[in-house]
Amino acid sequence: MKTVLLQGGRLITAAGVIEADLRVSNGIIAEIGKSLAPATGELVIDVSGQWVGPGFVDLHTHLREPGDEAAETISSGARAGIVGGFTALLGMPNTQPALDNVALVSFVLAEGKRTPITIAVAGAITQGRQGEQLAPMAEMAGLGVQIFTDDGSGVQSAGVMRRALSYAKPLGVRLAQHCEDATLAGAGVMNEGALAESLGLQGRSGISEEIMVQRDIDLVRSTGSRMHFLHLSTARSIDLVVAAKVEGLDITCEVTPHHLTLDESTCATYDPIFKVHPPLRSSHDVLALREALRRGLIDAVATDHAPHAPESKDRAFDEAPAGMLGLETAASLTFEALGQEKCDPELFFSVLSRGPARIAKLQKNNELHGLSAQGGELLVGEEANLTVFNPMATWTVDARALQSRASNTPFDGRVMTGRVSAVIAKGTLVLHEGKLQ
Ligand SMILES: [Zn+2]
Repeated sequence: MKTVLLQGGRLITAAGVIEADLRVSNGIIAEIGKSLAPATGELVIDVSGQWVGPGFVDLHTHLREPGDEAAETISSGARAGIVGGFTALLGMPNTQPALDNVALVSFVLAEGKRTPITIAVAGAITQGRQGEQLAPMAEMAGLGVQIFTDDGSGVQSAGVMRRALSYAKPLGVRLAQHCEDATLAGAGVMNEGALAESLGLQGRSGISEEIMVQRDIDLVRSTGSRMHFLHLSTARSIDLVVAAKVEGLDITCEVTPHHLTLDESTCATYDPIFKVHPPLRSSHDVLALREALRRGLIDAVATDHAPHAPESKDRAFDEAPAGMLGLETAASLTFEALGQEKCDPELFFSVLSRGPARIAKLQKNNELHGLSAQGGELLVGEEANLTVFNPMATWTVDARALQSRASNTPFDGRVMTGRVSAVIAKGTLVLHEGKLQ
């Protein structure tokens, strides 16, 4: 494990931003201070003007293994994560079969330990994600699983969701909901409205999301349990969550980089690369999401990284599967949504690292789970899980050059500002000058 000296960076500590050097030795943050002298044999990295903060944590990664290894594997997903600045990923349970039991969760955790970063797992709320019988959440919680979700679809039955919340409460775990009422979302493929009508594409309404957000807030209130809302996409959803937080309910939420930077007008190309659930919304919704993010009302930016093998995405808009890649472009897009030169580095690391780490309970070293601590404070003695972000860098997205096995990014060819330059995961330098080590 090589000793690394990060020189001249802006350190985003939990107590504020300071300009200092930072040394990583024996896997931990060994020293922080001004003008640290390089030690013999040490790798010195000049990070002048760059931001050094806790490694990013993605609450919403579709790793696709087991079941769809043509699209992604745990190993390739981890590589994509590292390039994107992530030192921890939470794998979603809508694999084939679904992660609804101890054996499958153990498999993903074990495969995750073979990667350089931390792979945590979300378990399914219901057996087979069918929305009917509860999955053995207590047994999975025994492995350290902290988040449960049927993501890919929402739990449609209010009665099942209420039972799940009551079951989850004494376990101390958090349920996460993909909010879409299936009877309202129907077979819609893009945001409902005048544009969908003019394009002759079936609409998927905002109210299909909002009605489930409202329902689940009421269920959280009645059970005293806790909830995380995945990939919220409308202004109204954010208003509902903000009001519930003011009320004191234990509710958290995330938005995705794509809902912060793309709107429904992209669907006019009929290119299924822009098809995602929930769909890209109106420009009004995009502005409302950005405003809420900038005001610190959103707990996390999460990617909803959804790889699809080329042959499956290469179909007509109506027929193509929903979802787009996210890991390798998330930091630049979050930086964009936060106003680039106006971007507050503390808020940036709050939504990409400390917020999601807190929600997934990854901040403390989870001995049972065997996972390293994330979203740290940047204190001497902490295990080093660090990301260096260069706000001055520009780069062009090349779908063919991504680490993901898939290439379904809607940002191919787009010039981005701000890029992850280095990542230290579990004390080891795994990305240097933007390249995997
Ligand atoms: Zn989802």
